[in-house]
Amino acid sequence: MRLTMSVVFFILILALGVCLVFTRLSKKTSIKGYVTFLLIGMSIPVVGNLILIASSSSLISTIGCYIYFLGMDVAVFSLWHFIFAYCEMGEPKKWYKMPVYIAFTLDLVQYALNPFFKCSFATEEIIVGDRAYYRLVPYIGQTYHRIICYGLFIVVLIIILVKSIKASRAYAEKYWIIFFAMVVTGAVETYYIFSRQPIDTSMIGFAIFGLLVYYFSLHYRPTKLLDSMLAGIASEMPDALFFFDKSGRCIWINEPGRKLIGISGDNYETVKDDLRFLFGNDIDFESSGWFKKVKLGTDEDAQYSYLAMRSVVDARLKMSGNYLSVRDITEEQREMKREIYNATHDSVTGLYTKEYLYELIDKRLKDDNMTDYMIGYIEISNFKVINDVFGSAFGHTALKDITRRLENYSSSKSIYGRLSDDAFGLLINKSHFDEKFLNDELSSFTVSDENLDHHIQVHFGIYEINADDEIDVPLFFDSARLATTRINDQFKECIVFYNDKIREEIIHDQLISNQLQDAIASNQIRPYLQPIVDSRAMLAGAEALVRWIHPDEGFMNPGSFVPLFERNGLITEVDKYMWRCACEILADWKSRGIDAFISVNISPKDFYYMDVVSELKNLVEEFGIDPVKLRVEITETVLMTDSVDILKIINELNEYGFIIEMDDFGSGYSSLNMLKDINIDVLKIDMQFLKDSERNMKAGMIIKNIINMAKDLEIDTLTEGVETAKQFEKLFAMGCKLYQGYYFSKPVPVEDFEKQWF
Ligand code: C2E
Ligand code: CA
Ligand code: CA
Repeated sequence: MRLTMSVVFFILILALGVCLVFTRLSKKTSIKGYVTFLLIGMSIPVVGNLILIASSSSLISTIGCYIYFLGMDVAVFSLWHFIFAYCEMGEPKKWYKMPVYIAFTLDLVQYALNPFFKCSFATEEIIVGDRAYYRLVPYIGQTYHRIICYGLFIVVLIIILVKSIKASRAYAEKYWIIFFAMVVTGAVETYYIFSRQPIDTSMIGFAIFGLLVYYFSLHYRPTKLLDSMLAGIASEMPDALFFFDKSGRCIWINEPGRKLIGISGDNYETVKDDLRFLFGNDIDFESSGWFKKVKLGTDEDAQYSYLAMRSVVDARLKMSGNYLSVRDITEEQREMKREIYNATHDSVTGLYTKEYLYELIDKRLKDDNMTDYMIGYIEISNFKVINDVFGSAFGHTALKDITRRLENYSSSKSIYGRLSDDAFGLLINKSHFDEKFLNDELSSFTVSDENLDHHIQVHFGIYEINADDEIDVPLFFDSARLATTRINDQFKECIVFYNDKIREEIIHDQLISNQLQDAIASNQIRPYLQPIVDSRAMLAGAEALVRWIHPDEGFMNPGSFVPLFERNGLITEVDKYMWRCACEILADWKSRGIDAFISVNISPKDFYYMDVVSELKNLVEEFGIDPVKLRVEITETVLMTDSVDILKIINELNEYGFIIEMDDFGSGYSSLNMLKDINIDVLKIDMQFLKDSERNMKAGMIIKNIINMAKDLEIDTLTEGVETAKQFEKLFAMGCKLYQGYYFSKPVPVEDFEKQWF
């Protein structure tokens, strides 16, 4: 018996030791310290008892007794600490800790005094298993020891009992187990004490209790809790869930699943048929790991579901069943379609966006090399002006009209889209392209809204794709676009093919653009002056007009380079130079006492690329001339731009003393209205009016009225393009103030001008 018990105790101590090591290695830092302490606490009395059982010597047994009793203190004390952590109650309060600490300290004191006063216990020899066994004889100190141990033990027992009752069912298990283990251990210990059995078998309980604590603190997973959590989540999920056991029988369906197939009771016999009816017969209930997207219904009203069959495995990774989840992805799909549509379609016209159009054309050209294709670049001329003058609603109508025509005109092989604010792109097969039809269509293109019909210029640039061209859609469109830059509005042509001539012109444009800086530096660019006379045909001033005396190309009129430089912005270089030349001449005239003005041209682009006001101010200051002598000519189109506050700039110029002339008045979308907002000093009536007035009475009337109106507004009038004496007389009769035209002189070099007029 003593041997068996020794072995049992030894094994238990060993087990506690192993648990101790694993506890130290555990990652559960919040509790592992308490578990360690408790395991040590439970081991010490077992060690003490082992010594008692194993020894037959009085001294060693007495030492065993000391270890046993001290161990009991440590055991209860550590249990008390542990239970606070286990029940997640935080540290014990100070007022509550103090008495416990004092009581246990006193217990230690009385043990320390025992060798001298025999106040705690003694041992007496009895024979157990043929050998001497030293049994404990308790004195008064022992009673004290038991009271404090039991007292604290009962406190701990109450704590864990309350916790077990209070905890939710899912958690209660881990408290009840500890509670019952403590009750059993306590009961056996009590039995030992009162029965005065020589061997304390309750030590087995101590050790087992230690092992239980180790397991429940560090390894226990509350499966009930997990189960209830998972069941909760599954029933709350928006996805419909169908669980099948290993044999394929449906065992559980969540609420959305029930709604989906419309069942209410627990009869799951028809579930598979119902699902097949909804999502098709090919649903495979036998295997798992598959998923599929199912579309029900037609395009607009289509409903989309995402079905996934997954397997459920148990702890040993054995398949224990399958579950099918069904998610309604209709909204996601619609949203995705919407997003794709928005990313690939223009919001105003519903046509493809540029990027998507390029992508589609690229794909088509790669897939189909049997068809001869052409690229069309279709541009609304002056779209910005149309928007400004007629409003953006009208602009939208124009875009939609073009869209409709594109749709009507295109063949099944065509692809078209919107390239930019005012341009469309088209891929069309050569055999379908009908130039005459298109030309007629475009040249008579009018857009109407409730109250107006308006002819809109549309330019159509074409690039014919050659068989040996490397596919480069942006380049094709660029070539088609470049072709449109060659269209001259005056000639009513709408369609231009990109060809070698255009290519050469483009190269030529690049060449002269590159030469401009040198040309300015070497005086190839120079001003010509055209006189402006008063009603007595006396010189009033001159307009400075640019000329390029090119070493290779010869004499170049502005018509052959100004439009190009207006497109690419280089015009600012020309203008700055021309203004400087004009100031130089004026300074010279001033020194010679000649009283005449010079008008210079300002391109709309100048307002974007430079600070016109300070540029001009600096010039007149540098040359010391009166700003009144430098007149500035602006065109109406400048007023249509809204990115720069043109009105403010012009009024600033005017306030500084420059005379502002409105050039080509009547040629564009002139709005008489603007004359009230802007400080214009002179209206330069477009020469086209004068030409028309020869044949057309109305044109003459208009000039007359413009002159009269200008008078009322205290604005001077200047008529350009006066070529004959008759015209001069007529204009004189109408009350025009200033005149310019070949009748008086063509633009001539400055020296010639001076020779002729001074
Ligand atoms: P514009 O400012 O309207 O200049 C008047 C144009 O009409 C000049 O053409 C002039 O030679 C021409 N002209 C004058 N009288 C008559 C006439 O009796 N009959 C006919 N048929 N034509 C006449 P030019 O010099 O070829 O200039 C053409 C345009 O180039 C100018 O039109 C102006 O818009 C632009 N331009 C000329 N020089 C400059 C410049 O320095 N800067 C800027 N930004 N543009 C300039
Ligand atoms: Ca001018
Ligand atoms: Ca003009």
